[in-house]
Amino acid sequence: MRGKTFIAHDELPEVLERLSKTMDVWIPTAINDEKCVIQFLPYQPDRLPVLDRQSTMPPKKVIFPQVETLLHFSRKKDENDPFKSHIELEDEEEVSPVLVFGARPCDVRGFLVFDEVYLNGPYKDPYYAKRREKTLFATLVCETSDNACFCSAVGSGPADQTGSDLWIIPVDSGYVIEALTKRAENLMPEMGKDATEAQIAEAQNVQKKVAALHIGEGDLTQSSDDFEDRFSDNEFWRDMAFKCISCGICTYVCPTCYCFNITDEAKDLDGERIRSWDSCMFNHYTREASGHNPRPSKLERYRNRIGHKFSYFPKKYKGMIACCGCGRCIRRCPVALDIRNVVLSLKKNKENVDV
Ligand code: SF4
Ligand code: SF4
Repeated sequence: MRGKTFIAHDELPEVLERLSKTMDVWIPTAINDEKCVIQFLPYQPDRLPVLDRQSTMPPKKVIFPQVETLLHFSRKKDENDPFKSHIELEDEEEVSPVLVFGARPCDVRGFLVFDEVYLNGPYKDPYYAKRREKTLFATLVCETSDNACFCSAVGSGPADQTGSDLWIIPVDSGYVIEALTKRAENLMPEMGKDATEAQIAEAQNVQKKVAALHIGEGDLTQSSDDFEDRFSDNEFWRDMAFKCISCGICTYVCPTCYCFNITDEAKDLDGERIRSWDSCMFNHYTREASGHNPRPSKLERYRNRIGHKFSYFPKKYKGMIACCGCGRCIRRCPVALDIRNVVLSLKKNKENVDV
């Protein structure tokens, strides 16, 4: 097994270029010069990764595209009988191997939540599975948390390697790279040159320092009983959801939100079945064909969002919280609703609530 390697800052484009010859390499990319929107996009020679801050959107779309064609269908008429026809289906093509370079531990943890639902349950989602199997994560030890981050409060942390294949540790003059999984070892010859003992020692210090950090206040992992106790307290939930404008941004930026809608888009005899992200914060999300909506107001929808992440999901999936503490919903909510405060408020009396 190859040891640790080192990539100098100015060698990074060359390494990404080399890797991109054999696989799709997705990197966090600034959409404008001010770096106010950072998205994961496929590497191109004129694109450099932004590694000094968290991306605006997580790399969720790499494995779970925002809009995805599941299959093509075409209705074929029977040549001998004009009253008969049949439908031919054609699946999407195979996918290429992918490396996500520069994800954060919270981004990768998001996919562990997805895995429980789309891979490990009684039904495997074949579209998710084929991309997941071919995707490797080169994850950056996270030195740049801000005041919206709370990964440690949900059982993870800025140096959490769970789910990652390669580990990127920023040091003064570049990055020390370590393979964490067998399948990542094959990439190590492409990942710069062997690291020196001094670089490895520097990287170990960084890893140790970051691993000792506790990002976020307290422990939000044991909130299920508090949620259940609060479930019927409509006044509490009305207060919590009062400011919400049901825009759905919190779900779109969330690495753990996995809901989707399916639509058939057809023209004449041909068409496509399309899957696109959906949001449980939208009014129509649960509306049934009869017109009945079991979550008719913001109260029920916001309660469901909290309950799903901090109670229903951990109860079903061995204690796993369906929130990785990335803080994106807090940064992006247009009315500054803070999910941490809501979860902490489950324990408090109503008069102490301040969201
Ligand atoms: S981002 Fe804020 S306002 Fe929009 S749906 Fe989520 S909680 Fe409501
Ligand atoms: S709920 Fe908010 S903090 Fe938690 S994973 Fe989703 S976006 Fe991140």
